[in-house]
Order: sequence, then structure tokens, then C-alpha cells
Amino acid sequence: MKLPREKYLGLLWGLVVGDCLGSPIQFTGKDAHPHITEMVPCKMFGTPPGYWTDDSSMAFCVAESFARLGRYDRADIARNFVRWIDEGFWSSLPNAFDIGGATALACREISQSGSLENGEESSQGNGSVMRLAPSYLMARALGRPEILHEVSDITHRSRRVRETVDRMAGVLDELFATGSTTAVSLYASRKECNNSGWCVSTVESALWALNSTTSFEDALVAAVNLGGDADSIGAVCGQLAGAKYGLSAIPDRWLAAIKDRDRIDDLFARFLAELSNSV
Ligand SMILES: [Mg+2]
Repeated sequence: MKLPREKYLGLLWGLVVGDCLGSPIQFTGKDAHPHITEMVPCKMFGTPPGYWTDDSSMAFCVAESFARLGRYDRADIARNFVRWIDEGFWSSLPNAFDIGGATALACREISQSGSLENGEESSQGNGSVMRLAPSYLMARALGRPEILHEVSDITHRSRRVRETVDRMAGVLDELFATGSTTAVSLYASRKECNNSGWCVSTVESALWALNSTTSFEDALVAAVNLGGDADSIGAVCGQLAGAKYGLSAIPDRWLAAIKDRDRIDDLFARFLAELSNSV
């Protein structure tokens, strides 16, 4: 089956671009950082421009599993997460970094017991929404909506996280169906936006950035400059804006700055090819 590649690649690349753009000002106050419009080095991790963090690494782990196996395998995805933490699999550095607390605990549990459902209701970080794109595309293309919760539950077994994944997937459904969304952010202004790593505020802040701008570039600049968990707000906004505007709307200068662009292009091509074969 022929897939809408331009929009699907916009969703996938948007995640990576938002992560790379936002990571240099991660953990800063909302107005306590330089205004970001370009890919710049990240002092905290000592990385050059265009080096992705956990958001993209975990999304690559999901996509790589499907691309390699040609089918959805939850246990294999969980093993890829552990490979990322233990071996730096699909990290932009030789080692994994920027690892979320719930994810670190989950990977230890996966290694020790093989559990595929980890975390508690209090595990309400944004780890599942920041990496959502490949899970969303599998759920959508295969007609298996349960994949959304199953991949989320590997690290964040929480009702609230599931609800937030559903909220984001609903916005993406609408964007793919109509090119726009009627969803309204809980936040009416930049001042109201919460930039913490809470799953709910990450999606709502990203939605505010999408709805208060008219281009991919402007949406991402608005999102990451909220500071705080800037890379994950950027990764979520990048997914929404990529689904809305498509790959061609992502500035070339941002894409050109991404480390290992060809390798990522190849991974996404293999992922979408297997997805196309499966539907
Ligand atoms: Mg990150």
C-alpha cells in the first residue's frame, strides 16, 4: 500500500529536528536562555550542533526493530531500549545520555526480569510522547491502536500517560485527515505554558506552539524557546508540525546540521518500506 511519505517523514524528521534544536537550552528557565533559531552546540552534553538526545534515540529504537523484523515485536523494542542504555545503540554519542528516570528504572527491570510493563501511576514524564512517531505510524498503518499503549507501557505504565498519548495521537489523526486540528491547548498564551517534563504539559505546550504559528519553523522556534524540557517540547511539536506541514516544510539548514543524516534517512526509508509491505 502506498503511504503518504511526505507527511510521514515530516512526522519522523520533525521529532529529530525538534530534539536537536531544543537540547542546547534544556533545563533553562523560560526566559533565561539565548533565543534559539539555529542548531547550536549543547554545552551540557558537550555535543556539537545536530546531535540528538534520548527523544530521538528511543524513537530510532522503535523504528529499527520494525525495520529489521518487518513486524511489530514489543519485546524486541524493549530490548532495543536496553541496548541503547547499555551500548549506546542509536545514540548520537558512543554512550546513551539524557536518560529519563522512569526509563532508566524500566530498562533495569527489562534486563532483570524481561518485564514489558514498567513504571507506576506516578511515572508521568514525557518519555512516551517524545518518542511517539514510529509507534503511532505502526498503530495507524497496521490498524492496531493497542500498539500506542503497549509501547508506552514499556517505560511509563500510567493511566495519565496513556491518556496523553491518546490526546497526541488524536491530534495527529486529525492533522493527517484534514491538514489542521481543532484541538485547543490548555494554555492560552506563552505565559501560561508549563515547560516541565510532565507528559500533559509537554503535549499542551507543543500544541500551543503549533496553533499560535503558521509554519513548521515558527512552531519549532516557539516551542523550544519555552526552555525547560525544551528538547522534548521540541520533539513533540516537531512531530505535530511535521505531520501538518510535511517534510518539505522543514528548513534545509536544520536538516543539513543533523548528525548522520544519511543513516537516519536510510532507517526511516527501511521503516516505511516495511510498514508499506505490512498493510
Ligand atoms: Mg532529550
